[in-house]
Amino acid sequence: MVIQSPGEAFNCLMKNSRCFALLYGLVGCLVCSPVLAAWYSQETEKMGTLVRVEIWHQDAAVAGQLSAKVFAEMQRIENSMSPYIEPSLLSQVNRDAVRQEVSIDDELYYVIKKSLDYSLKTQGAFDITFASVGHLYDYRSAKKPSSQQLQAKLSAIDYRSVVLDETNKTIRFLNSNTKVDLGGIAKGYAVDQCIELLKQHGVTSALVSAGGDSRLLGDRQGRPWYIGIKNPRGDGNVMKLPLVDVAVSTSGDYERFFELEGERYHHILNPQTGTSAKNIQSVTIIADRAIDSDALSTSVFVMGKDKGLKLIESLANVSAIIIQGNGEVFYSSDLVRPD
Ligand code: ADP
Ligand code: MG
Repeated sequence: MVIQSPGEAFNCLMKNSRCFALLYGLVGCLVCSPVLAAWYSQETEKMGTLVRVEIWHQDAAVAGQLSAKVFAEMQRIENSMSPYIEPSLLSQVNRDAVRQEVSIDDELYYVIKKSLDYSLKTQGAFDITFASVGHLYDYRSAKKPSSQQLQAKLSAIDYRSVVLDETNKTIRFLNSNTKVDLGGIAKGYAVDQCIELLKQHGVTSALVSAGGDSRLLGDRQGRPWYIGIKNPRGDGNVMKLPLVDVAVSTSGDYERFFELEGERYHHILNPQTGTSAKNIQSVTIIADRAIDSDALSTSVFVMGKDKGLKLIESLANVSAIIIQGNGEVFYSSDLVRPD
């Protein structure tokens, strides 16, 4: 894979099978692409961010209907998993699981189980109970907890206080201050669901993105998709990734933040301190599924470059691009610069 840098040109080759997938795509689609098909794209606000759908289809009306189905699917998931929607299943969990077992559906069970698996894999860097402290921050009105408030709630950040019962599909919190938030994983899950939905309707080339989480179905008619990595401290992209049939997520300290007395307070929290994770500006993860790229981009952001890259190297078919606090860029070892 050749990563393109719009500024200073450099090349970065991906040594794994996705490179071959790209070549097959080039040959295959030149031969078989239907002449009358075209790209149809639509955007809307869902899950607190911009959702974009691009579909290659022969029929504009059907493409429009499929986009509407994608947006409806996002809304359905938001209605269940948002902690801000009062009647959502997740709000019910945050309200009642401190007192009793709460029944949840298979879908919420799956996403919370996956979150707890990532907590184990990352030694607690990924932890949905960050919300026990996280809800004390308001990034829009530059509000942060006092050190007393922070100390009072910090011990409630502990994924081990979340107990799932697989047989009865229930959840219970062991700490009375526990709250959970799926902001680091639910958009990835939703993007995967939408890609599955499009596949079921016969679509073979599409993109679904929700903020920084994207998944690509197939290629762009014989060419790769080009997904930009934003400049964390300026306009435009620092590079573009040519990708085919993968998920890609970026977590950045510029998405939701405020500055106070020279300090940047952003939305990715280190569960050990209850304050914003330091030393990284952005992490981009490429994986097969968006639920994994989403959870891992947040995880590596918290773990830092060295531990984060070590984790990525231990996982099959996962790549990482890390922009450090000083702007230096680091790549997982499957991505190499030829010069
Ligand atoms: P976004 O696409 O919303 O910017 P990211 O994937 O970058 O999301 O993850 C940031 C979000 O993850 C936060 O807004 C918050 O909801 C959640 N989060 C923050 N810190 C953690 C953490 N340590 N573990 C799990 N989730 C977290
Ligand atoms: Mg994430």
